[in-house]
Amino acid sequence: MARTEQKSQQLTLWGALPSEQSWSVRQSARARRLSVRVFRHGGVEIVVPPRTSPQRVSAFVSEHREWIERQRRRAAPSAHWPLPPNSLTLSAVGEQWRCVHAQGSGRVRVRELMQHELLLLGELADAEQVRGALSRWLRRRAGEGFEPSLRHLAAQMGVKPGRLQVRCQRTRWGSCSRRGTISLNVCLLFQRPEVARYLMIHELAHLRHMNHSGRFWAEVARQEPDWKALDRELLQGWRRVPAWILP
Ligand SMILES: [Zn+2]
Repeated sequence: MARTEQKSQQLTLWGALPSEQSWSVRQSARARRLSVRVFRHGGVEIVVPPRTSPQRVSAFVSEHREWIERQRRRAAPSAHWPLPPNSLTLSAVGEQWRCVHAQGSGRVRVRELMQHELLLLGELADAEQVRGALSRWLRRRAGEGFEPSLRHLAAQMGVKPGRLQVRCQRTRWGSCSRRGTISLNVCLLFQRPEVARYLMIHELAHLRHMNHSGRFWAEVARQEPDWKALDRELLQGWRRVPAWILP
């Protein structure tokens, strides 16, 4: 067990650090080099040796930024919802689905019944099959649900995206390819509508600026002045996602 470090102190955030409050820099007399810790709640701590310059910290952070964000998203615990689920709340599209289980034999299928009821049929004890069938259904649902909003926002912003792709991945909420294909993560379905909308605006803004420059954020802010708070919410968004969806 490591001793509690006596000679450590909390430093104020340097300007170069991301604006999230959960980031902190700690100077440690025992530290030989810069290191980073990502906590389960998503907080990030950069530990630095004495007399480290802010420039050095800022370079370290930008070098490791992607890794940190990845760890951070992993650190956020997803709710342990049962599989097969009893219900699915797709907040982003304002839908609540009640799941009806019909245990049988054979391949697992998902059928939409009337009034937002979802029938799960087949070998429901086979978690991998249930996961696959639900994940396919959710991706289709996300495509149908997000496509009109995406086109509407694109028209407002005066950009012309290519096709919409719905993916299921742990590491990214969305992306925009050089060809203009917009990818959205199926897990956005579980976020608040405002958050999903922000992510679409974000990816569409990349059609103008393929970077995260000041001009890019200005474009985002024109459509969504509250983007900072929504972006922060997205970092914690994995908590709203049932763990079984992710591969
Ligand atoms: Zn981006």
